[in-house]
Amino acid sequence: MQEVEEFRAEVRQWLADNLVGEFAELKGLGGPGREHEAFEERLAWNRHLAAAGLTCLGWPVEHGGRGLSVAHRVAFYEEYARADAPDKVNHLGEELLGPTLIAFGTPAQQQRFLPGIRDVTELWCQGYSEPDAGSDLANVATTAVLDGDRWVINGQKVWTSLAHLSQWCFVIARTEKGSKRHAGLSYLLVPLDQPGVQIRPINQLTGTSEFNEVFFDDAVTDADLVVGEPGDGWKVAMGTLTFERGVSTLGQQIRYARELTALAELAQRTGAADDPAIAERLTRSWVGLRVMRSYALATMDVEQPGQDNVSKLLWANWHRDLGDLAMDIIGKPGLVLGDADGGDPAFDEWQRLYLFTRSDTIYGGSNEIQRNIIAERVLGLPREAKG
Ligand SMILES: Cc1cc2nc3c(=O)[nH]c(=O)nc-3n(C[C@H](O)[C@H](O)[C@H](O)COP(=O)(O)OP(=O)(O)OC[C@H]3O[C@@H](n4cnc5c(N)ncnc54)[C@H](O)[C@@H]3O)c2cc1C
Repeated sequence: MQEVEEFRAEVRQWLADNLVGEFAELKGLGGPGREHEAFEERLAWNRHLAAAGLTCLGWPVEHGGRGLSVAHRVAFYEEYARADAPDKVNHLGEELLGPTLIAFGTPAQQQRFLPGIRDVTELWCQGYSEPDAGSDLANVATTAVLDGDRWVINGQKVWTSLAHLSQWCFVIARTEKGSKRHAGLSYLLVPLDQPGVQIRPINQLTGTSEFNEVFFDDAVTDADLVVGEPGDGWKVAMGTLTFERGVSTLGQQIRYARELTALAELAQRTGAADDPAIAERLTRSWVGLRVMRSYALATMDVEQPGQDNVSKLLWANWHRDLGDLAMDIIGKPGLVLGDADGGDPAFDEWQRLYLFTRSDTIYGGSNEIQRNIIAERVLGLPREAKG
């Protein structure tokens, strides 16, 4: 479509003109497993994008977005990845909470929070998982009790990505005493900078800390900061998850293609590619990328049952396998830190890729859960018994 191609050219030119000077040094930084990289600088870059009207492209114009189509947004993400632009810091606000507030929030909540997300002045994190509520999210035990004009919150969240860098958290809490599973939950907007909130970083396999434990000990938030009806938070929480898919998948695939190309070059340089088994796995990997791209393009504009689950399974397994392949190409040196001369003792990019991609098949819903959903909701197989 000509209009989309014009927009693509505009984005490409803007990135070429603006990824210069100090911003040029940020190329390729950030993203899953690398959120610690140049955070403040990427925040400044994200605000620079916002000032140019290049955040929240799909939000309706009346909510401060650009009202652009899926095809426009895909073009944006493709150009963004092609330019190796640094990962944005406000993904959770822009892609998850913003659309949720637009769909379920009150006008007052929209006016209060959407501008801060769009302009990247307030960062958000997602407080869903708890020690006993991950895949089985309906088991949430954190409670919130209405006391006058505020909610008083007690409980613990875990694996809360970027909580240590965020000002706000969208939290699922049990607000009806004695309620079970999906009933009696509410979706609360909670400020993190208060005495009742404690955030403890969790060290990852990669040696860095992107996620946290978050403890609520009589933490408070205003009574009107509940999204949707009190007790009806499950519906809102599930709404948020449908936005999680986003249209960034096609841009993400350009990054994957870049990783695969670099790995194939490494295999050539080291001679690992002479091993027919390695050559075959590299080739299979390339085919897998084409399959993912075709699937993403074919399903971009249509809703099909199981589509998100298939997409998640495709990219998570593909990326995890790439990490395995990287380690097999590197061989024994992949087992040690730093070089033989005692150089930088940090993980190199391939070791970090290998370690972080272990989590690809867990976050955003594990492989097993994706397959359960396909089995039950698409194939109509018997449902699992749940307590
Ligand atoms: C990098 C990363 C970032 C994350 N960021 C966030 C965040 O910002 N906010 C947030 O709320 N959460 C976050 N999470 C948590 C994530 O959503 C959970 O890890 C995920 O939902 C799985 O829950 P769990 O870890 O409790 O594992 P469990 O649910 O305990 O699962 C353990 C294992 O059992 C399997 N299993 C569980 N139930 C079934 C079943 N019914 N049938 C078959 N197999 C099953 C699972 O597939 C898995 O292999 C993050 C996780 C990771 C790894």
